Amino acid sequence: MVQSDGMYDSIRHNQTKNHPSRTPNELPLWVQRQDLAESDLPYIHSLLAISFGDWLDQIEGFPWQPSYPFLLIHPDGTKVAWQRCEESSPYPADWKESSLGVNAVSEAIQTCRPTLLKADEHVSPQLRGFDSLAVPIFTRSTGLPCAILASLIPAGMAQAGELKLLQAAALHYRSCLYSRFELLFVKDLLQENNASQKEDHRREILADVLRRMYDHIDVESVLSEVIDILEQVYPMSRTDLFLSQDYSSTNEKVKPLAFHQQEMDICWKAFMEGEMREESEGSRRRLALPLTGKQGVYGVLLLDVAASNFDDSDLRFVKTLSEGAGGAFEKAKLHEQANTLIGELRLINELTQRLNSSLKLSDTMQFATSELLSIFKADYCFILQLDRVNGHFIVMSSNVPSLTNELFDKDYGFCGVMLTTKEPIILSDYRTATPVASQLMDVTDSRSLLAAPLLLNGEVIGAVMVAHALPNHFSYDNYKLLQILSAHLGLAVSNSSLHAEVRRMVITDNLTGLYARHYLNERIHRKLLQDAYGSLILVDIDHFKKVNDTFGHQIGDAILIQVSSIIRSAIRDSDIAARWGGEELAIYLPRLTMEQATRVAERIRLRVEEETNPKVTVSCGLSEWTASDDKISVETLFYRADMALYEAKNNGRNSVAIG
Ligand code: GH3
Ligand code: MG
Ligand code: MG
Repeated sequence: MVQSDGMYDSIRHNQTKNHPSRTPNELPLWVQRQDLAESDLPYIHSLLAISFGDWLDQIEGFPWQPSYPFLLIHPDGTKVAWQRCEESSPYPADWKESSLGVNAVSEAIQTCRPTLLKADEHVSPQLRGFDSLAVPIFTRSTGLPCAILASLIPAGMAQAGELKLLQAAALHYRSCLYSRFELLFVKDLLQENNASQKEDHRREILADVLRRMYDHIDVESVLSEVIDILEQVYPMSRTDLFLSQDYSSTNEKVKPLAFHQQEMDICWKAFMEGEMREESEGSRRRLALPLTGKQGVYGVLLLDVAASNFDDSDLRFVKTLSEGAGGAFEKAKLHEQANTLIGELRLINELTQRLNSSLKLSDTMQFATSELLSIFKADYCFILQLDRVNGHFIVMSSNVPSLTNELFDKDYGFCGVMLTTKEPIILSDYRTATPVASQLMDVTDSRSLLAAPLLLNGEVIGAVMVAHALPNHFSYDNYKLLQILSAHLGLAVSNSSLHAEVRRMVITDNLTGLYARHYLNERIHRKLLQDAYGSLILVDIDHFKKVNDTFGHQIGDAILIQVSSIIRSAIRDSDIAARWGGEELAIYLPRLTMEQATRVAERIRLRVEEETNPKVTVSCGLSEWTASDDKISVETLFYRADMALYEAKNNGRNSVAIG
């Protein structure tokens, strides 16, 4: 049947330009020339019926009205409309049900001519007293029979004029039919015009918004662009965006895709299947549109609209929009990821360069601490080194002064865990889930933690930890980044440690553990420039040749070690004791006068005499300098001390002499 919003084929075929010459109330001529095509005929039943109603309204008062009952038949034989008969009429009550005019109608169709069938030719008994009349109605330009108007008149009343009258009535009906047809045609045309205007407008919006979305290189702008445009186009709707990714948006309409919620079911289905899902509830329609890119589905756009304001063109619009948004989201996300990667590489590069530019461990670690704090926007950072010999981790560097240099048993806390697992740790909330007790977390009252072991050749040599006061502060990306950075930190720590070890070996005398001579020289040289005064003690073991001869060189070495350790324990940390050569030792005492240095030398002499085994004695020669000496140098200071030592030997040894 014809739908009021349907469109006849003929109309589609015959759309031409508006005709210029027409009076205001008249439809343009080109509309008046429109006609029904053969392909329209199966769909015109309701058009015929409506026109029949119009026609009946108009023919009231016509001479043959209401003497005959009228019946309108579609060429396919369907009785599409009929005239209600008055009670008093002579026609049988069920006249329209009977085979009224069947023969007349079929003949009219076959011959395409008005047909009159006499009563005696009828088969149906209840119509025996009536003649049947049938007049075919033709389309106006194509001449196709599109309906048959039939009627019944009492037998014997039919005259030639009756058929003419019915023909006139049929013509009148045809004009009613075409009035309706033109009206419908224009209505369809207007509707189509409106729809295409709306579609054009939508297309413009889409093109504009898609271009803008693709121009954005940040995910956040893409998301707000989608939501904004939907709210603009559908102001009475509700838009929500659910994202699957570990992505926290500042837009309150962007939420994580929570699978467990029942009401989210269509979202979940749309997400899993990558296809639009919808459901209706009363007058509302809920549409779940997946945001799909080339590499997968990123989320779901949920639109809650009034069903009455949402047609097929709206559906096409939101589908295209969500598809475009999926692509734009993917592009922006990849762009962001690429940027993050570039940023991370740059960071790793810079950090590695900086870490390797200084070999001083404390400087390196201090730099790393401040970098890590800013990279991870952390509140606290700790870098710990494992001391395998003593079985503890020591806080080498941190931004919490009270915890720097703190020692922890190697099996304690998160470092203990990492020593066993050799794996990094990410903890979202230490307060609600406390896998191990941690003093670093407790003291700083931290809740989020990111930690990684520092590895060298697969062995744990330390650990790095960053913490934040709030829970859920660190992301999985942070976790991966710390893992990469910790590898570089591990190398830097071991490089610095190795360097420190080499340097220690270079400036230390192997046998005695005192400083080497060149280091003492360097240090005195610097002190002469910095300080106002200082003293030097030269210590020489008495008759050492004899000791060697008596006990052998090994015992001689042992005595040398004993004397050295007496010296080490008899001086301050700021004093510098070194092996000057052979069995001669030297001690520089910064900012000590000759008088004070004499007491130190005296103490050493006495303790050597008392504590060495086999027992030896030492002689000491002292010298001092003050800022008033013009020609003071390392050499002159030693020369004077050597002179004094010579004097001490001459004085009978086991004595202290000043130069
Ligand atoms: P004096 O009281 O005059 O100092 O007599 P001395 O025998 O100690 O004489 P001198 O200081 O000239 O002797 C240095 C001796 O110290 C020579 C050498 O046998 C011994 N000596 C030097 N270095 C070492 C060392 O590293 N180990 C051992 N065992 N002996 C050393
Ligand atoms: Mg000597
Ligand atoms: Mg000697």
